[in-house]
Amino acid sequence: GLGQASNRRPRLLLMGQRRSGKSSISSVVFHKMPPTETLFLESTTRIQKDPIQLVPIFVLERGFIANIWLLHSSFMDFQVWDFPGQLNFLDPTFDFDHIFGELGALIWVIDAQDEYLEPLSNLHTTIIAIQRFYPAINIEVFVHKVDGLSDEYKLDTQRDIMQRTQDELSDNGLDNVQVSYHLTSIYDHSIFEAFSKVIQKLIPQLGTLENLLNVLCSNSGIEKAFLFDVLSKIYIATDSSPVDMQSYEICSDYIDVIVDVSEIYGYDRKPQGQVSSPTSEAPSETQQEEEEATLEASSIIRLQNGMVLYLREINKYLALICLMRKDSIERQGLVDFNVQVFQNALQRVFEVGR
Ligand code: GDP
Repeated sequence: GLGQASNRRPRLLLMGQRRSGKSSISSVVFHKMPPTETLFLESTTRIQKDPIQLVPIFVLERGFIANIWLLHSSFMDFQVWDFPGQLNFLDPTFDFDHIFGELGALIWVIDAQDEYLEPLSNLHTTIIAIQRFYPAINIEVFVHKVDGLSDEYKLDTQRDIMQRTQDELSDNGLDNVQVSYHLTSIYDHSIFEAFSKVIQKLIPQLGTLENLLNVLCSNSGIEKAFLFDVLSKIYIATDSSPVDMQSYEICSDYIDVIVDVSEIYGYDRKPQGQVSSPTSEAPSETQQEEEEATLEASSIIRLQNGMVLYLREINKYLALICLMRKDSIERQGLVDFNVQVFQNALQRVFEVGR
């Protein structure tokens, strides 16, 4: 399953000037920190002494208890790096391959509330260098802190940044480089949306996942289904009906509730039938996963507006959350069965993917 592919998880690197919001983004997305508390965060640079030093602030094996068992980590591998001045890819003392060799996406954060010409020129230098040595990396620009800006100003800023970047790349003969832009803020769900889009591009099985979700929805009377990375609340796939912000927010809040409840009342239940004897070897990953598969947690909640939320943990990173009308859940046996089929199919998709 996914566990064995752990060193092949989509890898992301967050870069940008200091104070652009990198630590805040990682704390809000990966540590459930309330956005207002980021005001008191230490800037990432303060931890840095060496101008080129990777700062893996977020320990992924954090031991997050969700419902019954431990969610070890996120579906993605995530690191934060302050912009270190000039990136000299020829510097023999620094192992760039180690950092960029398996990187899926470089996320560059620009503070839209601040003067951005200099940060932008640093971005351009970086893209040009990365293009030369690691052309496969997706470049994703977060035009960040847009909560303080009017809608019109937001779009103008994004357009300006796009235009300047396009011009600079063209001047360097890089007309065909794809750069994506996202308007983000930690004060609403836009930061999660942006991460979802970034991650989805890195999942080769995305089309299959969407098809499986479509089949699940149409066979079970489900209106909307999301496959969430539980730790970050980023959805990695959804069925092809349009995403409306409100359903996304409800589902994401629901994960919060479940995780909170299980952090308080949950416990790390040993998989059944596993006898822990000091001489026995640690169970192999597949054995563990098979046992975990019999213990997946699920939860159903009825909303006042007649809708029902259905949650099922799929594996150690992912949970399925479905939004449906209450008459659909009257045939809960059918829904449960279809979800089980979905879960089995998903398992196979990720196995074949390897
Ligand atoms: P870093 O140096 O890039 O890690 O930046 P920090 O994460 O320390 O953020 C610098 C400041 O920007 C902090 O005071 C944050 O509260 C603030 N900040 C971060 N994200 C946002 C945002 O989306 N909107 C607003 N208004 N402020 C933000």
